Amino acid sequence: MMRETTDILVVGAGLSGLAAAVRLHEAGREVLVVDAADAVGGRVRTDRVDGFLLDRGFQVFLDAYPESGRLLDLPALRLQPFEPGALLWNRGRLRPLMDVFRRPGALAASALHPAGNLFDKLRVARLRSRLLRKAPDAIWNSPEMPTLALLRQEGFSERFIDHFFRSFYGGIFLESELETSGRLFEFTFAMFARGSATLPADGMQAIPEQLAARLPPDTLRLGTRVLSLSGNVAQTDRGEIAARRTVLAVDGSSAAELFPARPRVGWKGTACLYYEAPAAPFPEKLIALRGDRRGPVHNLCVPSSIAPSYAPSGKVLVSASVIGPDCESSDLEERVSHDLGEWFGPETLGWRHLATYRIDRALPAATPGHAATTCAATADEPLVCGDHTSSASIEGAILSGLRAAAALL
Ligand SMILES: Cc1cc2nc3c(=O)[nH]c(=O)nc-3n(C[C@H](O)[C@H](O)[C@H](O)COP(=O)(O)OP(=O)(O)OC[C@H]3O[C@@H](n4cnc5c(N)ncnc54)[C@H](O)[C@@H]3O)c2cc1C
Repeated sequence: MMRETTDILVVGAGLSGLAAAVRLHEAGREVLVVDAADAVGGRVRTDRVDGFLLDRGFQVFLDAYPESGRLLDLPALRLQPFEPGALLWNRGRLRPLMDVFRRPGALAASALHPAGNLFDKLRVARLRSRLLRKAPDAIWNSPEMPTLALLRQEGFSERFIDHFFRSFYGGIFLESELETSGRLFEFTFAMFARGSATLPADGMQAIPEQLAARLPPDTLRLGTRVLSLSGNVAQTDRGEIAARRTVLAVDGSSAAELFPARPRVGWKGTACLYYEAPAAPFPEKLIALRGDRRGPVHNLCVPSSIAPSYAPSGKVLVSASVIGPDCESSDLEERVSHDLGEWFGPETLGWRHLATYRIDRALPAATPGHAATTCAATADEPLVCGDHTSSASIEGAILSGLRAAAALL
């Protein structure tokens, strides 16, 4: 056991802690980052299994995220874009519903897509135009309401809400009740309109690794859990660290344990199952959504169609995501396997199951009015950052870390 001192201690090497540490280090401050895990990234991790890249839970990086775009070297991530749109299950088959502003050739098929009526499609265009003109700050200061209320206020039909929004945004918010803050909906919608959903060629973990590479190696201490915090003195399982200031960049539940002034957070969970398939079940670089189907698979994607590096040459990687109570079922693998047969027929029986990730604490619940404050009241308290203090996303985590660094500097 040892005692050491540092100028600034950052607890947590997820995206928020790394963003804070990079900004502080580049401003000339001495920083020590500790994390309980064996690698950086927090909830953004990628495993290599038999030559496949398996992100720990299906997730995407939106290349229009403003703060992330300023902080990260995006070209170095070799981001591989999805097509703008989705394949939506409707009346027994998958039909594309595209962003016709970027794929005008799909206008007729999208206008006629049976998930919604023509007025729904026109309302999407009106919403898009309104949100493209709205600055992010204005979005975050909009009146708070659940996404569902906002969609009804916009005049969307219940059918379109059920078949499209509950599928597409249910997969993003990890809840299909659409209770999540309408501000987060507006922000995400604007990001999809401005840019693309992407996968980094080396997997999602390439994002935190790029940030970690900007820190001197001796500033990062992995496998070190902070057990308690008293002012700016941290007791870890490897000894005591005394700092002049502390940035608490852990997830919302760990923040409330280490710093009881923080409110407790609720969580949205998900499960993600990966398969090796002999061929892609559909050729489009799109996410497939459940639409009017019932079954545990909420959305499905072929990561190797988006980024070929996700699978060894000649092989195909399929991911199937589950949200809500289905995630807890003890026979999840059998149920998903059965459901995949319903989506694509008996050939899915030949798919090789590679891994299942069950992530109970994937996203902090972001219902209207959730506590989204940051920064310490006094120098004896930690500056708290993390997605639970801003918005439940990569952008929210990075932005919160940069804000904590700015407040400290
Ligand atoms: C399955 C899934 C899908 C997602 N999909 C998307 C998506 O498509 N797009 C998007 O933008 N966002 C998505 N997100 C959200 C995004 O990944 C998170 O919002 C973001 O990564 C959170 O970063 P963070 O730094 O706030 O927290 P975390 O990543 O949780 O980092 C906190 C770190 O603190 C460490 N820690 C905790 N307690 C201690 C302790 N006592 N001592 C030391 N270390 C500790 C943890 O080990 C962890 O490394 C998804 C998340 C998941 C899980």
